[in-house]
Amino acid sequence: MTLKTLSIHVAAEFQKHYGRAPRWIVAAPGRVNVIGEHTDYNDGFVLPMAIERYAIMAADSAAAPGKISIYDTQFKESTSVDVSAPVTKGEPKWSNYIRGVLAGFQKRGVTIPALDIAFMSTVPLGGGLSSSAALEVCTATLMEAATGKAIDPIEKALLAQKAEHDFAGVPCGIMDQFISALGREGHLLLLDCRTRQTQLVPMSDPSVELLVVNTNVKHELGSGEYAKRRAECESAAKILGVASLRDATADQLEKAKGKMSEVVYRRARHVIGEIERTTHAAEGIRNSNWPAVGNLMYASHAALRDDYEVSCKELDVVVEIAEDIGYQGGVYGCRMTGGGFGGCCVALVKASDIAAISKKIAADYHMKTGIEATIFASRPAAGATIIKG
Ligand code: ADP
Ligand code: MG
Repeated sequence: MTLKTLSIHVAAEFQKHYGRAPRWIVAAPGRVNVIGEHTDYNDGFVLPMAIERYAIMAADSAAAPGKISIYDTQFKESTSVDVSAPVTKGEPKWSNYIRGVLAGFQKRGVTIPALDIAFMSTVPLGGGLSSSAALEVCTATLMEAATGKAIDPIEKALLAQKAEHDFAGVPCGIMDQFISALGREGHLLLLDCRTRQTQLVPMSDPSVELLVVNTNVKHELGSGEYAKRRAECESAAKILGVASLRDATADQLEKAKGKMSEVVYRRARHVIGEIERTTHAAEGIRNSNWPAVGNLMYASHAALRDDYEVSCKELDVVVEIAEDIGYQGGVYGCRMTGGGFGGCCVALVKASDIAAISKKIAADYHMKTGIEATIFASRPAAGATIIKG
């Protein structure tokens, strides 16, 4: 659904629920990380793209002061938040993403206006495409529209990240909120997780698109393994005598190989290689060198599978099918994206072959795993926008 169609839908839902037309409509996208996995907590680079899937809110000032009413059009669930006092955590669970952002604005000295809100989202929930950041950044954008005061997009992203930390209890990095707030149509975002510097990387060639393939599995060993990987990276950095793996080179690692366990060596090899692959991929995208970008994506997947050991059978199956289709069939590259142990793969594909590629991946994935994948294509979408206001 295009953003325009989506805004018509959410406006109609608002009208139905509150009996009048909305004054503001705002949206913020989900994202897919094209390359740069498990690099963020090693001070490295990530290269996410905003996808054409959005959290969207329609709103108007409310008559009753000190209260925000929120209607979730998908779950047909309403809730209200008292904004006359400091906003706290509460029920239902999803309201905390919104509450956290409202609290962030209060901390900045903003008096939260009384509002009626209807919202919907086309970002799949819990699928690793950051429906949570989309919801947070969308809320922050609504606050900007309703108060008439824009805030610096980086501060906005950090405010949304803090909401996720403090109100959802998820110790996420900065990528999701940054791309949702700062994304620009036709561009990826190269983000330096050490300095928080961002660079927009143009990707305007209409002959390519990204294909997101959700394996629809989530293996539960995720969080424990994640903590282990972090510790292994810290231990590698310590042995190499650097503040973080961002500061180490592949040469340095080879020379110090004898000083660390084989596992720690492989973890570091992934991270050091992946940071390099990410900056190279940004360069390749700028030059529309799609075969080079595709190869970097395959190399990223192999390292995540063999060195970092965060892939799983289903993700590997998708990448194997993509490799089978190959360059001839319109696939340049494919890799798992996100933390791993399930979730999504992302493939770089020829736009003209999308239908055939999607069909083949769906059929072969089902044949090999017995599971239905969810597949959609996207070009780099815009970040948070005020559609009406
Ligand atoms: P992801 O960000 O990868 O989609 P998360 O677990 O971080 O996964 O966030 C998913 C949660 O965000 C959902 O369980 C829900 O609480 C909340 N959420 C996001 N969008 C919506 C929505 N449109 N309606 C209700 N809850 C939502
Ligand atoms: Mg999330």
